[in-house]
Amino acid sequence: MESRFNWYSQLMVVFGIFVLVYSAYMVLSALISLQGGHSEEAYYSLMLGSIGIALASSSLLLMRRRALQLKPPPEVFTVIKCLKCGFRLVRHFQAGDYVNSEVGQCQQCSGRMLITSIYAESEGRGGT
Ligand SMILES: [Zn+2]
Repeated sequence: MESRFNWYSQLMVVFGIFVLVYSAYMVLSALISLQGGHSEEAYYSLMLGSIGIALASSSLLLMRRRALQLKPPPEVFTVIKCLKCGFRLVRHFQAGDYVNSEVGQCQQCSGRMLITSIYAESEGRGGT
């Protein structure tokens, strides 16, 4: 299933990894230049690189936690019943469905059909 949130979080993860790699590169090059002697610039990029690593990894962790918290929404069904013959129909919930609203004619006797109940069914697998 596609959703806009997944696309956005994937982009954020890619961005976070990019920042992480770039920061690691900065720290590494700073360490290399520090081997040649003390330099303020190297210390500066070392500091900046570590901040970048900390920020990127914390945001990546946050995204991961958020992704884990997101559960697929439960499937919602609408139960429709014919007033005349009692014919019962279950279909997926549609926007605007509410209990006791009329939803057209019965397939069997052309009687009035009412929504009798709306319920959600969670998949309930792998819950920790
Ligand atoms: Zn009917």
